[in-house]
Amino acid sequence: MRFTKRWLLPGIFALMLAGVSTFTVRGQTPAAPQASTVPVQSTAAQPAASQQAYSLPPDKLAKAIALSRIRNILDIVGSLWQIVVIWLLLASRFAQGLETEIKRIASHRWAQGVFFFAAFFIILWLSGLPLSMYGHYVERSYQISVQSWAGWFQDDAKELGFAIAITTPLLLLFNWIVRRWPRRYWLGAWAVTLPILVIVFFVEPLVEPLFEKYEPLQAHNPALVADLEKVVERTGTEIPPSRMYLMKASLKTNGLNAYVTGIGATKRIVVWDTTAGRIPNDEILFIFAHECGHYVLNHLPKGMALMAESLFFIYWFCAQFAAWMVARFGVRWGATDLGSRTGFLVLLCAITVVGFALEPVDNGLSRHFEHQADVFGQEAIHGIVPDPQKTAVAAFNDLGKAWLDDPNPSPFIEFWLYSHPSTQQRAEFAEHYDPWANGGRGKFFAK
Ligand SMILES: [Zn+2]
Repeated sequence: MRFTKRWLLPGIFALMLAGVSTFTVRGQTPAAPQASTVPVQSTAAQPAASQQAYSLPPDKLAKAIALSRIRNILDIVGSLWQIVVIWLLLASRFAQGLETEIKRIASHRWAQGVFFFAAFFIILWLSGLPLSMYGHYVERSYQISVQSWAGWFQDDAKELGFAIAITTPLLLLFNWIVRRWPRRYWLGAWAVTLPILVIVFFVEPLVEPLFEKYEPLQAHNPALVADLEKVVERTGTEIPPSRMYLMKASLKTNGLNAYVTGIGATKRIVVWDTTAGRIPNDEILFIFAHECGHYVLNHLPKGMALMAESLFFIYWFCAQFAAWMVARFGVRWGATDLGSRTGFLVLLCAITVVGFALEPVDNGLSRHFEHQADVFGQEAIHGIVPDPQKTAVAAFNDLGKAWLDDPNPSPFIEFWLYSHPSTQQRAEFAEHYDPWANGGRGKFFAK
């Protein structure tokens, strides 16, 4: 599964979508992790300890280290900046002024809400523009991105339009719930969040063509489709060739990726055209098998169930936190009622802060799922490719090289930001994982 940042624009959804948002073979942010949670199967002859499973040539290594530093800083500063902007909107009484002004112009309550939240998104977008522009500048200068500035702006503006069109009605709904049930609104918000999430997952692949170009994979690379079908069969993932797509990622990036997205009738596999034909098919099979793992191991429903449980407490906590903010700053901010538009921003502020604080928890869970999918993927290609260990290690090296992943990220950065175990950890695990050695059996496949 995969979620792009356009779904995450508002802090509230960053939180809601947490946990199930990161099932790609590679995170949106630099890949990442902790010690493997599954014991490494040791084989008789292991390579010398000094030889890392994932390594880069010296020139690329220097670039990867420099680029990772910038990406990490942008990631953390971006999250904090969003909190600061919402806080400033409240503390400067800009939000209250805006609400008053809109009430003067529009008479209908819903129209007022639409204007207010649309304005809020535009302000959030504008305030984040310098950071995201810098991010694009950096990715371009390291030749990860090949997208023109015009194309980039067009995409960014489209994402804003999309956020306004989809998210504004949702915020109106949540705002209405707060007004309707001022004491127990967090419970109502909790009840509607999960169905919304399921819909988002279902609809996501249908929205993607607004942003990216897709072609049937069969037309472009029938040999790869035939190979993928072997993995489909072995994993019991029901994806016919008609649901295999090639995404024209080369228009925008040199990075590699492949993923499974959607649920039920919209489920499909997407392989980037930077990947198909550029790395050996065996490696793509491993990446695909990893993705199948997310489905077969029910990571999506499990993630949702966990989220349902935790959101219950998170929403409750955010409600207390917001109530405290209103008591402490409400008069000064002109936000004495959480049910007002300005008051709702206080709640969004609380959710954004809590979401940021919970990022390591969310990422820790995600890394757990990703590691499981790695194990599953490597087992799934057993018998299909000649040497699963070698294939997986090669795939991680190719992914890491294409995205310039840091081979030795700091443990703190991994803990806080990485939705995937680091490329190094994943490659090391893959190198030593051979459950069939000495007559053993796999965790997910008997043979
Ligand atoms: Zn994954």
